[in-house]
Amino acid sequence: MAKNTLPKTPTKSADEECKQECSSCATASSCSSAKKGPAGLPPKADMDVRHVIMVLSGKGGVGKSTVSVNLAYALSSHGRKVGLLDLDMHGPNIPKMLGIEQHKLAMMDNKIEPVHVTGKLSVISMAFLIQDPSTPIIWRGPMKMAAIQQFLTEVNWGPLDYLVVDLPPGTGDEALTIAQLAPNVRGAVIVTTPQDVATLDARKSAKFIEKLGLPVIGVIENMSGMLCPHCGEEIDLFGKGGGRKVAEEMSVPFLGAIPIDIEMRKAGDEGRPFIIRRGDSPTWKSVDAVMEALIKVVEE
Ligand code: ADP
Repeated sequence: MAKNTLPKTPTKSADEECKQECSSCATASSCSSAKKGPAGLPPKADMDVRHVIMVLSGKGGVGKSTVSVNLAYALSSHGRKVGLLDLDMHGPNIPKMLGIEQHKLAMMDNKIEPVHVTGKLSVISMAFLIQDPSTPIIWRGPMKMAAIQQFLTEVNWGPLDYLVVDLPPGTGDEALTIAQLAPNVRGAVIVTTPQDVATLDARKSAKFIEKLGLPVIGVIENMSGMLCPHCGEEIDLFGKGGGRKVAEEMSVPFLGAIPIDIEMRKAGDEGRPFIIRRGDSPTWKSVDAVMEALIKVVEE
């Protein structure tokens, strides 16, 4: 029977817990930190997942969470068993985008039960742990790492084909921790808008991923042009082609471009992923094509 108990959140930072290298510590044999790997890191999480995909962007607001939600949904509707992990701890918007923001996490058999959106799509988000959505999360790196470790090891994900991880913008602790702790990380998808200020940061994200020794699965250019809803003429609001240029320069796949579309924004606000809206709008086709390209790169 599900109990409505919040999972434990870390109260002590790793800094407080352990101030020196295990090799030189007198209490290493009795200390839980001593079980950690060479750099004081815990071992890879023991979870049953075939492909872990990180979704990254250099900047906020470029549509990274929108892409994560649509990608996870597209994969699940192609028959894959998918987990969606929202690690954008400072702005966890995925539950809102899926219309499940009222859910709270429950414990079952000592494991955290994810929210099951469909039989094939389960979600975990920091948002489920926060009583008041307007309360900011103020955590140092080690606390985030402890929470991520819990999300990987103490959640009843079941066997997964994919774990899609929505990360905060930039090159921070969350991405590093996933790269280090999650098994079978296939690489990262970089979402960018076309203008120079965004593509500059997208390049940084791509280099960061390469420094971690992981492949860039591909670049997605979001908000790429816009069709005027009145006259149908194309408006280059943020320009076009910046994402493709980044992909070419970095010699990584370009997965496609998604235009600005008011229906896309509405889908996020209404909690219904754009990809499941039936229709043959040019935007729907481009989102679908991007998802197909991504699945192809990962699975081939
Ligand atoms: P990020 O995760 O990069 O911060 P979000 O996915 O939260 O960005 O998107 C920011 C806002 O832009 C949201 O309101 C979302 O609905 C909207 N949005 C994202 N992509 C598009 C698009 N192609 N057309 C219109 N609105 C979009």
